[in-house]
Amino acid sequence: MNVGVLGAGQLGRMLALAGYPLGLRFRFLDPTPDSPASHLAEQIVSAYDDLHVLEQFATGLDVVTYEFENVPVEAVQHLYSRLPVYPPPEALEAVQDRLTEKELFRRLGVPTAPFVAVRSLEDLEVAVSKVGLPAVVKTRRLGYDGKGQWIVRQGADIQPTWEAADGAALIVEGFVAFERELSILAVRSRAGETAFYPLVENHHRDGILRRSCVDAATVGSALQRGAEGYAAGVLDALGYVGVLAIEFFEVRGSLVANEMAPRVHNSGHWTIEGAETSQFENHLRAVVGLPLGNTDTRGASAMINLIGALPDTAAVLQVPGAHLHLYGKTPRAGRKLGHVTATAADEDELDDRLKRLDSLLGKTLDAG
Ligand code: AMP
Repeated sequence: MNVGVLGAGQLGRMLALAGYPLGLRFRFLDPTPDSPASHLAEQIVSAYDDLHVLEQFATGLDVVTYEFENVPVEAVQHLYSRLPVYPPPEALEAVQDRLTEKELFRRLGVPTAPFVAVRSLEDLEVAVSKVGLPAVVKTRRLGYDGKGQWIVRQGADIQPTWEAADGAALIVEGFVAFERELSILAVRSRAGETAFYPLVENHHRDGILRRSCVDAATVGSALQRGAEGYAAGVLDALGYVGVLAIEFFEVRGSLVANEMAPRVHNSGHWTIEGAETSQFENHLRAVVGLPLGNTDTRGASAMINLIGALPDTAAVLQVPGAHLHLYGKTPRAGRKLGHVTATAADEDELDDRLKRLDSLLGKTLDAG
């Protein structure tokens, strides 16, 4: 089977790594030359919306997927008119706009922060008074890793926030005083079979994911069942095929959905070593029409992102249970260059290993 992937970043690279043992072959399309996946498979270097290039890309492929949710929907629809594309274009469309994404959550009974769409300074004033202070203002499109996002703490912040947004369509959300940020990775096959990974606790700094820890305590809990129920609702409503990530805030034992990603997700990298079947393999199994793999954990695990600077490879590998993944990127401040997953037999052993990794990566991570 020949799989085409829109986007050739680290997610594409890890998809290819998971797909080769299944005999899959890959072709990538990405405007940035020398992208991480290009070290493993053919990369066509082009913008996503060149119809002539899309034809060339599609030739000989059996199925197309994407690793990046900001590919133009028109490009995906164009491909969809000639071959299977999963997840379906409707899923992509729904998440590209934070308003339609939140409206979908609301329609499906998935709790969210209060939200209001905004197009003018007057709208913004009304919206802030509706959701209350502090309020979180986000661009509806193309925001990621905390970019295109402002906090309005007092009335005097409204005008400067409007100016900073520079005319972009906005959504205003109530500020959620959460205890934890959690995410769930869900997967649905072409046959409609579903599977869920355990909730993961995520830690961000400067809007970038730094660490994801599998929360052993939530396995089998009401929180886990709730997250699975919400994810199942979204999967079914969209006729979804592939891996879907939903990010939640935990507030006094309940979940409030923040956003979702119609793709494999950074908070699921631990599954490569920490689960029976990785998110990458399960995404591929889903999109090529194979049965899903078991999502159970293998012991305890946690993932640390390598951001901005690289650690000493040998030192990382000296920590038992440490698995290093480098994406082949040139270091630059704020850039995700790789990750380390620590695995262990139990939580105590994992804590020891994470402490060793923290002292070793501390300086590196501060540089990021
Ligand atoms: P996002 O771009 O929506 O993923 O937001 C980036 C980060 O900002 C989240 O991981 C949260 O830490 C924070 N954040 C986003 N929306 C809210 C909200 N409504 N209330 C509180 N914090 C938020």
